[in-house]
Amino acid sequence: MGDKVKQWQDDPGATGSPINLIEVPTPNIDTQTLPFEIEDTRPEPELYDPRTKEFRYWNAVGALQRGIDFWKAILPTSIKWEEEVGEKLRIKLDEGVDLNANYDRQALNFYHDRVNGTTVYSGESPDIICHELGHAILDAIRPQLWDAMSIEVAAFHESFGDISSILSALQLKSIREEVITQTNGHYLSSRLSRLAEQLGWAIRSKHGSESTDLDCLRNAVNFFFYQRPETLPPRAPASSISSEPHSFSRIFTAAFFEAVCNMLLTLNSSPNEADLLQISQVIGQLANDGILAAPIVPRYFSQVASHMIIADSSRNGGRYTESLKAAFVKHGILSLRAAKEVTRLHSSMLSISDNQPIELPQLAISGERFGLEVDTITVNLAGQTGRFHVESAAVAGEDVAVYSAVDAANSFVEDLFQQDNVELQRPEIASFVISESISAPARRKTHKLLEENGRLVLKRQFFDCGLKCGCNKLDSL
Ligand SMILES: [Zn+2]
Repeated sequence: MGDKVKQWQDDPGATGSPINLIEVPTPNIDTQTLPFEIEDTRPEPELYDPRTKEFRYWNAVGALQRGIDFWKAILPTSIKWEEEVGEKLRIKLDEGVDLNANYDRQALNFYHDRVNGTTVYSGESPDIICHELGHAILDAIRPQLWDAMSIEVAAFHESFGDISSILSALQLKSIREEVITQTNGHYLSSRLSRLAEQLGWAIRSKHGSESTDLDCLRNAVNFFFYQRPETLPPRAPASSISSEPHSFSRIFTAAFFEAVCNMLLTLNSSPNEADLLQISQVIGQLANDGILAAPIVPRYFSQVASHMIIADSSRNGGRYTESLKAAFVKHGILSLRAAKEVTRLHSSMLSISDNQPIELPQLAISGERFGLEVDTITVNLAGQTGRFHVESAAVAGEDVAVYSAVDAANSFVEDLFQQDNVELQRPEIASFVISESISAPARRKTHKLLEENGRLVLKRQFFDCGLKCGCNKLDSL
């Protein structure tokens, strides 16, 4: 048995370092906490060449183990996969032709496609593997987010996937050294901020230059500023923000990435790789604390942000409070007033995590609004109680009662129907049905309208890594 295997550092298409392929000790697959199982014959560990199935197996094991080791050091020791997943998370490295990957509460599913003579496997990219893993980790921490009908909640799930990729990549010393050399810890684009370079290239080659960011799938260094998601169109070129969750997620991811930089420079104005490792662990912990404490409400970004700041007061004596505030204010996630108020609200916020109901409230909303020939459909609302007034810049001064969880659900569900993302058991109830001939072949839809006890209930089927910026056959016409 070989004691070393080869793997990509963060993505097969990453540029910058002359050494992208590294040799690492054969990963010891941990079967205790958050166990996973790759559904493939396990090849003997050896130094396989990239582009072989055997390489992809050990490359995936390495990426998954790195991501899981990072998160399990932060999460409560009792953490388990979401109930429907079962004891082990299954990993399916090649489920057929597509430029995508997804998490569906059963498995992490990956695909392949041939583009300009190159076969691109989404399961070969540690960035994509750790993004999908991030969905599964967040689902284990906060399963109520899965079906909450809110643009910001869905976008946060995507952002957390990208955050998981970034923090997992930072567990590699070679990545930390390269990023420090290139950026000195400043908020600059680097291989760390560029996520899924190869898949981004493949999608642009097939679907046009505006279907992803210019140099990768999504870049965490960007200058998008928070806007009310319900005022945005449901899709837009990658150079603009839309209410599509992957697109909108880039605002939170950017603020998070800038917070990493600010915290690093607060720790040491001439940071080294060990400082960066420390900050990756500190902010990972604050993210977990913030998610556990934040109520699930329509303006979810500002709630998570403010609870991360509060967590910093408790855990670190407020050492990174200004770093966090500056990042969230710069990207509009917290208004200037909220940034001032948030520390004052400290004591009242802490009690909130104790009294969150397990399940989100359900409500029947009008089907007519979505062109359906049914009176109502039932949805889960981002309607937890106990919210307090911290707001994003674009909604500063907005009365909390003005934009309700029902409004948020209507906006989100309307986007889903407009973009043909709902699978219907009875297609005849819809205002239009896209036939197989003009829809993308075998395109799975993120949501499903199911009959349950005489009601039509809208439920999520999966989270993917994001091709909604124009990547089905209909969009590319
Ligand atoms: Zn995703």
